[in-house]
Amino acid sequence: MKTPTSLEDLIDALRCLPGVGPRSAQRMAYHLLQRDHEGARRLASSLDYALQHIRHCEKCNNFTEEVICELCLSQRRDAALLCVVEMPADLLMMEQAHCYKGLYFVLMGRLSPLDGIGPKEIHLDRLLRRTQDGVVREVMLATNFTVEGEATAHYISELLHNKDLKVTRIARGLPVGGELEHVDSGTLAQAVIERREI
Ligand SMILES: [Zn+2]
Repeated sequence: MKTPTSLEDLIDALRCLPGVGPRSAQRMAYHLLQRDHEGARRLASSLDYALQHIRHCEKCNNFTEEVICELCLSQRRDAALLCVVEMPADLLMMEQAHCYKGLYFVLMGRLSPLDGIGPKEIHLDRLLRRTQDGVVREVMLATNFTVEGEATAHYISELLHNKDLKVTRIARGLPVGGELEHVDSGTLAQAVIERREI
């Protein structure tokens, strides 16, 4: 028996997800079609909606449905402080740690030359412009303590050198190779308090 083209297309489409090979894509497709029509419809419509409405905040680059996100517009944040993180999940971790009241810039990645991810792919030109608004005084680098996260922090600190900004790196209360997302909020709060100038 030949697999219908539409089913083949679905299996093929599911393979765009990270870590999903042909076998698991096939399992997912069978599951959705056989056992979860409602879930499949929800998936299709929320994916479609998100693709149409989710964009990057013009200031912090995080996902938002607005031109400028709620956090960037908040009057309660200290606009002189800008924290640079790799991913939206890192921003959420920082917020949960309740240790930081400034604004953010989300790189949406890290420098990784082997994967073809250079300064342009992580929007460093926009970060540079963002820091030059005359309000930002300190840029706090909170990229992960992995090889790539450290290299990214180093690159950014060079980029911001002589720009009349204080550039700090969160302290290494975090484990070497550690990712912010997997650190408890107490450790993260301590790392922010003990940040050092670089
Ligand atoms: Zn924003």
